[in-house]
Amino acid sequence: MEPVLIVGAGIVGLTLGQALKQKNIPFEIYERDATPDTRGQGWAITLHWALEYMKQMLPEETLARIRNVQVDPGIARHDSGNFLFINLETGEPKFKIPPNVRWRVNREKTRRALLHGIEAHVHWDRRVVGLNLQDVNKVQLVFADETTVTGRIVIGVEGSRSMVRQVLRPDAFNNIPLSINFTGVAIDLTPQQIKPLRDMDPLLFQGCHPPTGAFFWFSTLETPCVNGTADTDTERYRAQICMSWPAKGPEDEVANTNEARLANMKRRAQGFVPFLQEAVDRIPEGTPVTEVKLADWECPSWNNHEGRITLAGDAAHAMTMYRGEAANHGLLDAYHLMEAVVKIYTGVASPKVAIDEYEIEMRARTSPAVRLSRQACYDAHDWTRLDETSAILTRRAIAGE
Ligand SMILES: Cc1cc2nc3c(=O)[nH]c(=O)nc-3n(C[C@H](O)[C@H](O)[C@H](O)COP(=O)(O)OP(=O)(O)OC[C@H]3O[C@@H](n4cnc5c(N)ncnc54)[C@H](O)[C@@H]3O)c2cc1C
Repeated sequence: MEPVLIVGAGIVGLTLGQALKQKNIPFEIYERDATPDTRGQGWAITLHWALEYMKQMLPEETLARIRNVQVDPGIARHDSGNFLFINLETGEPKFKIPPNVRWRVNREKTRRALLHGIEAHVHWDRRVVGLNLQDVNKVQLVFADETTVTGRIVIGVEGSRSMVRQVLRPDAFNNIPLSINFTGVAIDLTPQQIKPLRDMDPLLFQGCHPPTGAFFWFSTLETPCVNGTADTDTERYRAQICMSWPAKGPEDEVANTNEARLANMKRRAQGFVPFLQEAVDRIPEGTPVTEVKLADWECPSWNNHEGRITLAGDAAHAMTMYRGEAANHGLLDAYHLMEAVVKIYTGVASPKVAIDEYEIEMRARTSPAVRLSRQACYDAHDWTRLDETSAILTRRAIAGE
């Protein structure tokens, strides 16, 4: 049988590969990165409502590997953390919501954990640049080196700047930018330096500065136990500090140099409660400051060419991270795609019927989620809009509207 061709070895593509392996369905994954280690240390993401679907897609050993890449294994054993949103001027909690089960994991290590057992099916340094649809029952991927492979279905899971999306919606593939700018750093901190931050919440918290609308986000990336410095003289944590702010004029643009970006973060932290202002002030000069361009894509309809091509994950529905659920939606996409592909390969449904069904559910679920994440992003920068009905708080819905 012709395989399923998966474009992109991110969290969603690899999870789908694992799920198809469990179902004995042939698949191959093509990834543009040269090796699994091409990327840096990466950021952390929270797996929450998708965990129950991951348990149905992944072998126990792979799940255990993911459980082991939580950013703080000590906290993970008895996580009683809250979703905490604070007033940055006073340090007082605005919202404190008890969590559901959550795993706060390192994204790049999760990717490596997901590789286990499917390594032979993941092809590195294979940038996909085009699709060939001439044969009505098949589809071909075209690579940057002009070679091709043929399969039965192509699934584009190559992130928010998806090439497959561009083929499906050449008229409307661009993400729509939001009028909010975002930069962040990853820094090492001594136990003493990180203590006031971790006293607020050991894993992550966020907040808004009422007078300016600046948003701040702290997240632990590594503890001394994880990076091997525990009980040494150089014990250190690694943490992420991010800030975002409304883009109202030229002075709000993100500068080109690390130096100017850092100065901007420090300037915007003036007036934060002292322990937070200090946390930003302490970021060492020379630290790389990364910009994340905030933009989204609402998952409009496309022609799936008789069920031969579809999208999942950020490729299908790019959303901002202010509700922390983009990867969770992508993982649920993988679950429903697994069901659709099983129907196709066992002859229960034609590709057209199965992929249409997958896309109808996915679009009904994720288009509202994209809009809610956009609203959450805007609400997070406007203290007057933050109440119990704010999109930053409303329940993370697994079903569509
Ligand atoms: C700061 C931040 C915090 C976040 N926090 C959370 C959170 O707490 N919870 C949550 O659910 N989500 C969170 N997210 C979102 C989450 O990271 C993404 O939704 C998720 O990583 C998307 O996975 P993916 O597999 O769809 O795409 P990606 O992870 O983007 O993977 C796509 C892969 O495709 C490859 N690729 C791209 N183009 C090609 C090509 N032409 N050919 C071959 N390969 C290609 C890329 O190299 C990449 O490996 C956060 C995002 C950010 C930025």
